[in-house]
Amino acid sequence: METRNLTFEYPNRTMALSDVSLTVPEGKKTVLVGSNGSGKSTLFLHFNGILKPKSGEMLYAGRKLGYSAKSLAELRTNISVVLQNPDDQIFSTTVEEDVAFGPMNLSLPKDEVERRVDDALYLVGLDGMRERSTQQLSFGERKRVALAGALSMKPKVLIMDEPTAGLDSRMVHELLELADELNQSGLTVIMSTHDVEIAYSWADEMRVLHQGRLEFSGSPEEFFDNDEKLHQIGLVPPTLFELNQYLVRTKAAIETPYPRTSAEMALKVFPGNRSPVGSGTILSIGPTSSPEDLKMAISTNRLDQASVGVYGTRARRLTKELGIKVDYWFNAFDNSVLGACEGRDFVLLVDDQMVSMVESRLQRLQKDFNLSIGRKRVDFR
Ligand code: ADP
Repeated sequence: METRNLTFEYPNRTMALSDVSLTVPEGKKTVLVGSNGSGKSTLFLHFNGILKPKSGEMLYAGRKLGYSAKSLAELRTNISVVLQNPDDQIFSTTVEEDVAFGPMNLSLPKDEVERRVDDALYLVGLDGMRERSTQQLSFGERKRVALAGALSMKPKVLIMDEPTAGLDSRMVHELLELADELNQSGLTVIMSTHDVEIAYSWADEMRVLHQGRLEFSGSPEEFFDNDEKLHQIGLVPPTLFELNQYLVRTKAAIETPYPRTSAEMALKVFPGNRSPVGSGTILSIGPTSSPEDLKMAISTNRLDQASVGVYGTRARRLTKELGIKVDYWFNAFDNSVLGACEGRDFVLLVDDQMVSMVESRLQRLQKDFNLSIGRKRVDFR
């Protein structure tokens, strides 16, 4: 996505965006940060062509957006926006109907629509609620229906406006993990938030809006390193970032690598003697992995004594189905790593498309934080 000198004014003359030029790279996780009223929602409504710039340009994949019904319909097969308030997005009486609405409008065959609805509801964990009335759902559930509706379009770019606002902490974790999962399966994911902790721990790329103007474009570390800008915009740095700066000021550590998670911070602060380090096993879970496969993998690899963490939608389902005792439902990676530092072995049950992400996080720990974990990977179908 790209905007060039984009300016937008609402009919009441509120200048919501002024001369915004930014790009959102393909395949990455980008966060759009800004306080309330800074123009985030207005910008997102330009991304899927609901709003048209007053001046300047909006581009997707190098081409200027067209605003004919045909061009917009085509654009929306590639780009899905999940609005901040689910009630602005949900129209149908039942969950199933609502999620099917987009694919039906694409005139897809009935069984393809069915498949898409199944997949989307599965991903957001609402597959048991197909027949439920949308009126009778909790706020968090309605947010998930709205997300499922966006996913059922099988977009290339998923844009979520304040997706974590109003969710409890478990749901926030689930959402961020799902966003990772979608990103790993090839989607470009963009979300807005005013939560700097989420921005710092989750995003590859960060864009900051303030009073309708673009104030920053780059990596989260670069942004949070600029005290003056933070102050001007009225944001406080994330806790881990601040703690790292304190270590630098007191000469207890050098600035880089920036710890993005509590495990990385722990490794940076307590580099100590890490032997014996527990070993890790990654069980890669494919689309057709069965509970029996998993049971077998656990017994043949003698994993019963290891602590168990899960990562990904399928991994969660399968472990629940099997009734496996899980030690870490959330922050599984961090907790496993910290456990390994205390000598405990761990097994991570990971959806296959997320294995490379877990591997690269382990490599980062080895390279940047000097933690070497003996590990193996077991694939099973
Ligand atoms: P954010 O998503 O960052 O909270 P918005 O894009 O919703 O910001 O709003 C940007 C500015 O535009 C604010 O000043 C807001 O009051 C104004 N605004 C938003 N929607 C409308 C609207 N429909 N009509 C008039 N002004 C609006």
